[in-house]
Amino acid sequence: MTGHVLDGKAFAAKLRAQVAQHVAALKEAHGITPGLAVVLVGEDPASQVYVRSKGKQTIEVGMTSFEHKLDAETSQAALLDLIDRLNADPEVHGILVQLPLPSHINADLVINRINPAKDVDGFHISNVGLLGTGQKAMVPCTPLGCLMMLRDHLGSLSGLNAVVVGRSNIVGKPMAQLLLGDSCTVTIAHSRTRDLAETCRHADILVAAVGRPEMIPGDWVKPGATVIDVGINRIERDGKTRLVGDVHFESALAAAGAITPVPGGVGPMTIACLLANTLTATCRAHGLPEPEGLTA
Ligand code: NDP
Repeated sequence: MTGHVLDGKAFAAKLRAQVAQHVAALKEAHGITPGLAVVLVGEDPASQVYVRSKGKQTIEVGMTSFEHKLDAETSQAALLDLIDRLNADPEVHGILVQLPLPSHINADLVINRINPAKDVDGFHISNVGLLGTGQKAMVPCTPLGCLMMLRDHLGSLSGLNAVVVGRSNIVGKPMAQLLLGDSCTVTIAHSRTRDLAETCRHADILVAAVGRPEMIPGDWVKPGATVIDVGINRIERDGKTRLVGDVHFESALAAAGAITPVPGGVGPMTIACLLANTLTATCRAHGLPEPEGLTA
């Protein structure tokens, strides 16, 4: 048996097209253009690539992109001051502070200064609480993208056994909350889990968000399971730099019913969901109905 490869690139393109259509309709009917502000502090090369890509895709869907690039020595007070100004700006519907921040800045303090209604990353403590209590929240982009792919492939997730490997605040925990919200029976595994292989073998849905190249082999995958590989790991193989996930793709493909590849799986969904969240935030800010299917 060979599993189906879930094409995140194509899914993300479809989602962006859907967002672009709604943005055009908002402009036409209400004269509103959604605006996304991205704040980057310092020169981390990976962050610079992400921010460039976010800005480009924001403009492509018809939104306004506001980029704020601050140098690495920017004080925490100056950053908080910028957040206050963005919170007060009616043209800014979404605010994203690119992480990681330099070590002299308290990231929690900065994230929690963002108006929760504009917190399109879904990291503000209010949004974490809303998600945890099953209320309308801004949902973190990567887990939201995973959920959309799962629903698209499986339809109802109700009653399925889901195992999430990883318990970070940005991926593992919100992913588990979303799966619980869709009535899965959820297990969260982590570095202290006693028998990870056996835990994974019970998963109808297996989400890997660890950050360890190819650590989950095919014989940990229940036959027919749906495998979502969130990991992005850079490795050297055959003299080349390659991106691989947390799952050993070839062996898992042989066992799984469906699997996301790396690259081209979850990765492209993250920015597409950021744009979807910005559209959702815009509709909520103006008291307009939210487009269906763009959030949890
Ligand atoms: P973190 O480092 O914050 O969390 C990793 C988690 O994995 C921790 O909970 C840790 O457990 C667990 N873990 C580590 N080693 C093991 C092990 N041997 N067995 C079981 N669990 C283990 O990572 P993130 O959640 O931020 O990211 C995870 C991966 O997803 C990374 O590769 C990252 O690059 C990728 N990523 C991809 C995104 C995308 O857009 N596709 C977006 C965000 C992340 P413990 O808590 O016990 O230490």
